[in-house]
Amino acid sequence: MNEKKENSVENVVIVGSGPAGWTAAIYAARAALEPLVFPGRATGKDLMPGGQLMLTTDVENYPGFPEAIKGPDMMQTFFDQAMRFGTRVVSDEGVLGSDEASGGLYMPYQNVEEVDLSQRPFHVRGDGGFECRTHALIVATGAKANWLGLDNEQRLAQSGGGVSACAVCDGALPMFRDKELAVVGGGDSAVEEATYLTKFASKVYMIHRRDKLRASKIMAERAMNHPKIEMVWNHVVVDVLGDDMIEAVRIKGTSNGEQRDMPVGGLFLAIGHTPITEFLKGQVEADDKGYLVLKDSYRSTTSVEGVFAAGDVADSTYRQAVTAAGMGCKAAIDAERWLAEKGLA
Ligand code: NAP
Repeated sequence: MNEKKENSVENVVIVGSGPAGWTAAIYAARAALEPLVFPGRATGKDLMPGGQLMLTTDVENYPGFPEAIKGPDMMQTFFDQAMRFGTRVVSDEGVLGSDEASGGLYMPYQNVEEVDLSQRPFHVRGDGGFECRTHALIVATGAKANWLGLDNEQRLAQSGGGVSACAVCDGALPMFRDKELAVVGGGDSAVEEATYLTKFASKVYMIHRRDKLRASKIMAERAMNHPKIEMVWNHVVVDVLGDDMIEAVRIKGTSNGEQRDMPVGGLFLAIGHTPITEFLKGQVEADDKGYLVLKDSYRSTTSVEGVFAAGDVADSTYRQAVTAAGMGCKAAIDAERWLAEKGLA
């Protein structure tokens, strides 16, 4: 186990392990800052090792992969590259270097539960009991899936009753085979999830509250031309019906208010994400949707000196793997320069 810095002050702690977190780690490690990463815990909720790309199938738009690459495979390469240059990760067994983290992304890594930014060096506490102090902090926690907030939606999601916010994680389960399924949303995620589900489902309804998809043109055409996907325009889901297992969704027309029950064997939510910032407890300025505010839009600086933000947690506009990676690079360079300016590293 790599204990060498456990009782001293870290140069930089990185919270989160999507494209932003690992890119920040690669740059910080190559700048000899020995970054310490809290990759997050694989609980299926909030922060998870590898971030949202762990829930994605083919990534076709990240430059350098002309034949596409699976999201989890891509994140494993990010991890390997960061570890190769001396990044360390916080697991339940303590701090691990590349030799010890042989399980790659699939190990019991810690999430950050709390940070105290009122003291310097900052204090950081993990959800597995690991604590450290750090001069600089890079927040790259990304964003988590949104839910409609219906009682029966939550009940059936928690009991494994056929409601999910991740088709790529759950869609292949036997319970969804040859069923008619529904996806809510009109963005790229909704199209991606609906298309993925066609592998298993007899039919997939895309329920969207408007009459036009938000998804990019190429993705939208893919959905609309798919023989197994049927669009249900101008409707919202107002209830989920079924005792142990979903049997139908109650949908309501957004223009006429009419309700009807649509029998389905599964419901998948793809209605956007919320940035993961709870652990900051309001210590870093965020906008009204919770996205961290960058002090200078060309840089990664935040309202707290020494705290830098990268990726989806600070980007409600682009939210792409490649832009997140670019932001991670900026955050590491900003942190490195700030540490040097202050004579801290
Ligand atoms: P998004 O673009 O924000 O789309 C969310 C969708 O959910 C919208 O269609 C929205 O409707 C709908 N929605 C939101 N709240 C709702 C509610 N309460 N009830 C019903 N519908 C609701 O989110 P996303 O699809 O997750 O995509 C996020 C980002 O990741 C985007 O930049 C996207 O391009 C990117 N992405 C890319 C790929 C890819 O290229 N392979 C795959 C996935 C995601 P309105 O349209 O009416 O607002």
